Amino acid sequence: MAYDVVIRNGVVVDGTGGPAYRADVAIADGLIAKIGRIRGKGGQDLDAESCVVTPGFIDAHTHMDAQMFWDPLGSSTCWHGVTTAITGNCGFSLAPCTHEQAGLLMGNLERAEDIPRAAMESSIDWRWETFREYLDVVDALPKTINYSLHIGHSALRIWAMGERAMESGAGEDELRAMERQLRDALDAGAVGFTTSRSENHLLPDDRPVASRIASWDEVRRLVRAMADEGGGTFELAVDQRARRRDDPDARAEELERLRALAVESKVPMTFGLQPEADGYASQFALIEAANAAGGKMFGLSHSRGFQVVLSFKTQLPFDALPEWSSVRALPPHQQVRALADAEIRRLLVQAARNGSYRTGVGAEPRPPRFDRIEVLRDPSSTNPTVAELAEQQGKDPVELMIDLAVATDLDQLFLQTSTRLSDDLLPVLRHPDTVMTFSDAGAHVGQLIDCSIQTFLLSYWVRERQLLPIEEAVRMITMAPASKWGLQGRGVVREGYVADLNMIDLAQIGPEYPTVEHDLPTGAVRLAQRARGVSATLVAGRVVFLDGEHTGAMPGRVIRRQRLESTRR
Ligand SMILES: [Zn+2]
Repeated sequence: MAYDVVIRNGVVVDGTGGPAYRADVAIADGLIAKIGRIRGKGGQDLDAESCVVTPGFIDAHTHMDAQMFWDPLGSSTCWHGVTTAITGNCGFSLAPCTHEQAGLLMGNLERAEDIPRAAMESSIDWRWETFREYLDVVDALPKTINYSLHIGHSALRIWAMGERAMESGAGEDELRAMERQLRDALDAGAVGFTTSRSENHLLPDDRPVASRIASWDEVRRLVRAMADEGGGTFELAVDQRARRRDDPDARAEELERLRALAVESKVPMTFGLQPEADGYASQFALIEAANAAGGKMFGLSHSRGFQVVLSFKTQLPFDALPEWSSVRALPPHQQVRALADAEIRRLLVQAARNGSYRTGVGAEPRPPRFDRIEVLRDPSSTNPTVAELAEQQGKDPVELMIDLAVATDLDQLFLQTSTRLSDDLLPVLRHPDTVMTFSDAGAHVGQLIDCSIQTFLLSYWVRERQLLPIEEAVRMITMAPASKWGLQGRGVVREGYVADLNMIDLAQIGPEYPTVEHDLPTGAVRLAQRARGVSATLVAGRVVFLDGEHTGAMPGRVIRRQRLESTRR
């Protein structure tokens, strides 16, 4: 038999969690044709002697919806071994939507996900109305990696209600129209339905995004429509305000309605896990209670915890302070000169110390806490805080930040953390009802680098700490998301499965230092982050990346959820 590609002599970590083994993997017609000792030559032979061979990673919580229209690579996600990104999370999809409603819809994405409106306006031609039509448009776009798509509640509401979606409850006719459109989207291959109740999700004018106006009964009706249609996964951005409420009764009510919906609908239901006052205890109690009663609830975990990138080339907590804003408005080389001036520095340090700060939402900077701002030195491991280094060097923390910026021509990055990376994360990663996929990739492109959570999982928890076996870590980012989102024939290295694969050099694997780019359409800023140690990535049997370089191949497709009827045959 002639094979298109043969991956020789690698250690297969097949995605199931089962023990690794050495074998060749042969590919024909986009599928894994044979695993074992392959005698014949392939059209292309890849030497995997020093690599593990894994399924392509699946990133299930992304916001690549707008980016798909201007970036055929799918960067930075594509550089981290991800071969399928699942998008349309937190209620934000680009369909359904009429041409006339596009402005309202972009308003919902713009601030909540920090996707510049000008980039969307210049790149997306809204040539669809229904979600079904949209799937066909996305499928036809040139793509290096695969995408699966959720239908988002904010889009659904705007489509059914127009401007009123941001103001009022839905009438019965509007609700029925939403149910019909949702069912049609699932029938066409949407992998699920998403919504947001999060106070972080605001319009540019500070009003809540459309899905947050919906009553909980509206959410229930729509999730029940999913159940009638035979499934899909329901993702929601939870109401963090309700979770922080001091009133224990209100908190109990919030948890109870999530539990009840999971149990009554039996729809797979998921939300991002974030540490609360009790750590993760009440979130796991909720998940366990729902599942004990027949629900299918699981949490999205993160391999390091959310970090917001701060830098003199992007954003700082001090930017809005009057003393700072004039310096920060200067072009970079003039900023360096100003920051090196002793008198200006003294004023800036003083202003930062006594300034009154705005509390940022989502990925916006928080008032500075220097014991929680890290100086990014090694993106594949832990890093010291500004407070620690300032104390060591006998400096004011702000002075330290300025010194580092001047010394690096403003390239030094800092990470604002809400909780610092610690072993407290391990039970969350290991919990059977979690999937490590809370990347938000494609959103907050000037603020976050969470596109690298998969390579960080491998560099830090597997190689450096040796606290997760490679087999288990790979399962968490391949078979686990594939089964939770119903992506059949993917996520495992198995004969007959789609040949979405990675060759990973475990001695090297890890995120690289992020860079500040101006490569969004219309030149807006974004953080890019590459990886090292991803020796090759294949999508549908085609080599798309070799040592981080794109080969030019664009075999990516829309992966549609298959209907349950067809899987029973
Ligand atoms: Zn999200």
